[in-house]
Amino acid sequence: MGIFKKFFDKLKYIFKKSQLDDDFYDELESLLVSSDMGVETALDILDELKAVCKQKLIKEVDAASKELKNILISKLNQDKIEFSYPLIITVVGVNGVGKTSSIAKMAKYFLGQKKSVLLAAGDTFRAAATEQLNMWAEKLKVKIVKQGEGADSAAVVFDAISSMKAKNNDVLIVDTAGRLHTKTNLMKELEKINNIIKREYPEAKKLNLIVLDASIGQNSIAQIKAFKDSVDIDGIILTKLDGTSKGGVVYPIVNDLSVPIVFTCFGEKVDDISPFDVQNFVEKILM
Ligand code: GDP
Repeated sequence: MGIFKKFFDKLKYIFKKSQLDDDFYDELESLLVSSDMGVETALDILDELKAVCKQKLIKEVDAASKELKNILISKLNQDKIEFSYPLIITVVGVNGVGKTSSIAKMAKYFLGQKKSVLLAAGDTFRAAATEQLNMWAEKLKVKIVKQGEGADSAAVVFDAISSMKAKNNDVLIVDTAGRLHTKTNLMKELEKINNIIKREYPEAKKLNLIVLDASIGQNSIAQIKAFKDSVDIDGIILTKLDGTSKGGVVYPIVNDLSVPIVFTCFGEKVDDISPFDVQNFVEKILM
């Protein structure tokens, strides 16, 4: 599997070739720092690794890598996410981050959990967005609620909730417009959507998830903050973890911003998604 390919490749190189000497620790430090986990976290991890290797008299690189894994796990303070149903997921994010494909991937994931899924084409800003989502709905054989270009996205959501209730669907996934430069309008629109959901289906579990492209590393923190100023963000879908060495950014996101990662995506295929699990995530880094 290609997840964290570059990070992993470099890590493997370090762990294969080096002795547990200063060079080894220097190389590991620059690798961790360049993964965008933050200098402080990287140095903390290194200090802990040095201390534990000293204490346990570890001389083998292989044994050190096991200790590194434990430390990487212990430094990510996030519980496993549990879903409850009926569930309404509103998906926000900047265009191009992988919003549409993440919706399709989540739909496929919930179908795999034997849940009935409904999509709402709430990005009424671009005709192409509805078309693209519609294509996925056909492919996955799930129902989609849509209106024409320029329609009121809150009205689409209202319709979708009626349909969800009538059909007793378990999961509704709502697409929303993804343009930062129309920020004020966009944020108002999101607020309106959120209010409709709260009003029309208060007993449903509501999650606002932001889609972030992992390859932009630290910049994703600015994106979360920009959205968080106006709407509640309950969690993150982190995409494009395949082929990036910037995935260490999960550390500041989870630890400093206290926003949990809900799903990770690691490829273009519709199955390339998994609910976030700390252990599994770190194992994928080191595998
Ligand atoms: P949107 O504009 O945010 O809706 O983005 P799309 O879902 O259309 O995705 C934009 C591009 O990113 C497409 O070419 C996707 O195939 C690609 N993409 C999305 N998620 C991933 C991922 O996890 N890994 C890779 N390699 N590509 C992805």
